[in-house]
Amino acid sequence: MTGVGAGGERARLEPFDAVDVIRTKRDGGRLSDAQVDWVVDAYTRGAVADEQMSALLMAILLRGMEPAELTRWTRAMIASGERMDLSGVGRPTADKHSTGGVGDKITLPLAPLVAACGVAVPQLSGRGLGYTGGTLDKLESIPGWRAQLSGPEFFGQLRDVGAVICAAGQSLAPADRKLYALRDVTGTVESVPLIASSIMSKKIAEGAGVLVLDVKVGTGAFMKQPAAGRELAEAMVGLGEAHGVRTVALLTGMDIPLGRTAGNALEVAEAVEVLAGGGPPDVVELTLALAREMLAASGVSDVDPAGALADGRAMDAWHKMIAAQGGDPDAPLPTAAETHVVPAPATGTLARLDAYQVGVAAWRLGAGRARKEDPVSAAAGVVLHAKPGDRVTAGAPLLELHADDPSRFDRALAALDGAVEIADTPVEPTPLLLGRVP
Ligand code: URA
Repeated sequence: MTGVGAGGERARLEPFDAVDVIRTKRDGGRLSDAQVDWVVDAYTRGAVADEQMSALLMAILLRGMEPAELTRWTRAMIASGERMDLSGVGRPTADKHSTGGVGDKITLPLAPLVAACGVAVPQLSGRGLGYTGGTLDKLESIPGWRAQLSGPEFFGQLRDVGAVICAAGQSLAPADRKLYALRDVTGTVESVPLIASSIMSKKIAEGAGVLVLDVKVGTGAFMKQPAAGRELAEAMVGLGEAHGVRTVALLTGMDIPLGRTAGNALEVAEAVEVLAGGGPPDVVELTLALAREMLAASGVSDVDPAGALADGRAMDAWHKMIAAQGGDPDAPLPTAAETHVVPAPATGTLARLDAYQVGVAAWRLGAGRARKEDPVSAAAGVVLHAKPGDRVTAGAPLLELHADDPSRFDRALAALDGAVEIADTPVEPTPLLLGRVP
């Protein structure tokens, strides 16, 4: 395609026609490396139109991608921006990514814990959208803490403190920003190759030597079934390894919320309990499991992260990490103006507490946002007084809803309709760790 632009200058000669690329995938073919490189780049610079990329994304969702084709697609997404070089940090670097779940505050204790064990953690995070919370939203409930860091601040903190959690800049995988926004409005989010390339392009561009993935499976996760979770985990591990990043994935349960809180400040408080050597057993178990994977893949085999939680080293690293970004780790966290207690409807054993429904309730209470530009409430959320497997007594508090505005309680209660099941007989809670890839 050659043309002359409105300004009279000659338009760039494009080596492919977008319609041919779409037809190839529509008919079940494999895109060539050159086609992939071109279409991702041309879309990012505006030479392929949204409607053409929408058609291609739908063809990919329906037809899939071969592993080598997906690797090339991801490579092209990484090449759309900058790939960070962390070699100057002076110690191994490892990052963790969770595919998102309800009450998932693991990054908060994990980053300082792994830093305290000698491996630097560069975490470029996002804000929450929908019912799963974002790490930055949680940290922003700490008075003074700021998510935006300059490049020199980021590198300085990574060298001096060993852990940074901050907002990703615009320069990492810009192709993903455009593609993800388009997928969101064209029904093309739920595709394993598109999810895997989206997540991995950003994570690989971050430059860490090791990546540990927490792929959630269950009602409160993207992937509802274990087989789908495993397929996504295998695709992402393959992409990491193909790009020279040591990558491991844990498959973990998300049928029930993680820990006993869902909400921003509520989750920070729970993370601090873990760093103080306490906290809910499932949060401690997953934090330690992920820390061990990050350390082992980084070649650090002589440090037990449980010791760093118990003796306060992880807490020291947390204080430094928060203070370095302007936060006051000792300041009281915001609390909600209003609370509403939901009592247990019967006596027995809590058999089910649906993660998705708790997530939607926390969102409706104000903890999450529906659109990118919406504000979130720091104090809103849900506290769980029992978890599946626990005995409960009719009328005793089961859930506690927190909100700044009591008019939010009705819609949150509606979200919880049918979320709880109580059995007469003892119930074994489902295991948290479901598998590992490889
Ligand atoms: N998170 C991402 O970054 N991309 C996806 O496609 C899905 C979840």
